[in-house]
Amino acid sequence: MDTHVSSTSLNAGADGMRTGADYLRMLSQPDRNVYQNGELVRDVANHPSYRGAAQSIARLYDIAADPALRDVMCFPSPDTGKPVLRCFQIPKTPQDLAARRGMISHWTESTFGLMGRTPDHVGSFLTGFAAKASVFDELAGKQWGDNLRGWHAKARDEHLYISYAIVPPQIDRSKLSHQQSDPYLHAGVVRETDAGLIIRGAQQLATGAVFSDYVYVSCIHPLQPGDEAYAFGVMVPVNAQGFKIYARRSYADAANSSFDYPLSSRFDEMDALVVMNDVLVPWENVLFHNNIALCRDQWWKTPAHALGNHQAQTRWSTKLRFLMGLTKRMCEITGSIKIPPVIGQIGEMAAYAAIVENMLLAQEFGATADDEGVLWPSRAALYSVMSLQTDLNPKLLNMARELAGGSMIMLPSSVADFENPEIAADLEHYICSPGIPVRERVATLKLAWDLIGSEFAGRHEQYEKFYGGASFLIKQNMFRTYDFNRASALVDQALALKD
Ligand SMILES: Cc1cc2nc3c(=O)[nH]c(=O)nc-3n(C[C@H](O)[C@H](O)[C@H](O)COP(=O)(O)OP(=O)(O)OC[C@H]3O[C@@H](n4cnc5c(N)ncnc54)[C@H](O)[C@@H]3O)c2cc1C
Repeated sequence: MDTHVSSTSLNAGADGMRTGADYLRMLSQPDRNVYQNGELVRDVANHPSYRGAAQSIARLYDIAADPALRDVMCFPSPDTGKPVLRCFQIPKTPQDLAARRGMISHWTESTFGLMGRTPDHVGSFLTGFAAKASVFDELAGKQWGDNLRGWHAKARDEHLYISYAIVPPQIDRSKLSHQQSDPYLHAGVVRETDAGLIIRGAQQLATGAVFSDYVYVSCIHPLQPGDEAYAFGVMVPVNAQGFKIYARRSYADAANSSFDYPLSSRFDEMDALVVMNDVLVPWENVLFHNNIALCRDQWWKTPAHALGNHQAQTRWSTKLRFLMGLTKRMCEITGSIKIPPVIGQIGEMAAYAAIVENMLLAQEFGATADDEGVLWPSRAALYSVMSLQTDLNPKLLNMARELAGGSMIMLPSSVADFENPEIAADLEHYICSPGIPVRERVATLKLAWDLIGSEFAGRHEQYEKFYGGASFLIKQNMFRTYDFNRASALVDQALALKD
């Protein structure tokens, strides 16, 4: 049975919008099985490991609920007429796609692009599935397509935060899911009952699951005949019986103050292994099962992957803009901004950041409508930038590191040093920049360290490499998407030239 307390019932606003306070109230309920540092967490909203990130997500809901931003953030629900988040709008026109980006951009600016799996991420995937629910009708049956349509409407109208776990745990990548040493290491269906599916096993790497309402558990990893039990897509409330969320180490735990770790302390969205101990998933929460073809095609024959990653690219381009602003500020602080080669290096970084930003526009400019009038962002534009991301992101971080020298390291041990007059006087004297108060210099460079060098930053570097899957797979997408017909035609044309 779906035990989740409907978020709508907890939403206070007259217009039905979920506010930050509504969200935090839901997150405080002691009903989810989140484990951190050997303990079951009873109140996620106020737990020291999660409080900062929970507040940041609450702020997103407040931004969305702000009547002054209504047209930027919302569109009227086709079912209720009430305002709902734009990420759930099925794009039919170029204006729809641009408006989606506008909403997502607004949110990413409030997190500096540092939270990847905010509600608009899986919200965009779900919208992509629903935009082409006919694929579900055809490959599984109308009943399942209708479950999907119902879920899209529910998530949209109840402002749900859904995260996802769509990769089986690594364990032994040389073997298929059904060949692992235990058939329920990878999450699989144990049996069907009148009430629904019983699912056992684990799935990774559910970023944001700790903070979400539901987790979409499915599989993007290629499945082969024999893997039918692993070929499902289900919505699981985070408080479902037997559903456990094992979060990784919290970087907010290591952040002794928001001055010393301004980003780790506020934006650590957490990644987790989800374990399903014979979880009963009611039939209405099942989008399909026992269907390898649909498990694959949900991502590629609907605009889900394109819309979900259009969101991800909007976020990344905000993060790069933040990196550019911080790099320039860092060089102003150290005075190196006046040196021509430094200007050249920042200019080169800016060129890459601008390319990523402009590739977002290329996804919209090259968008194509399908037979149902849904506009798909250009996948050639999307996968070209995603293919380069795995190399480009570390390259930009490396360039920023080169420009920083020791500035991000040669900093006081903590904010407490400023409280000691003797130390503070020396800091004032020796850690200085002309015209910039010492505290501001230190705060800026600690911000830079948290973006580029801290443990939080290291996780981010790994995230940008893998959030969309391993790079060899993304490059295969690019191979499939590139217009080789046009390229080959040129070769034929050249070969046909007469002597
Ligand atoms: C910080 C972070 C957050 C994430 N968030 C989420 C999330 O919210 N939800 C979610 O479902 N997933 C998430 N992911 C998981 C992500 O989708 C997977 O990590 C990603 O798909 C890669 O799978 P893997 O980690 O099992 O690596 P593997 O598949 O084991 O691949 C690791 C490396 O092994 C090599 N390799 C493996 N197989 C091959 C092959 N066939 N050919 C060539 N080389 C190969 C490649 O070098 C590859 O990069 C996240 C990952 C990270 C790092």
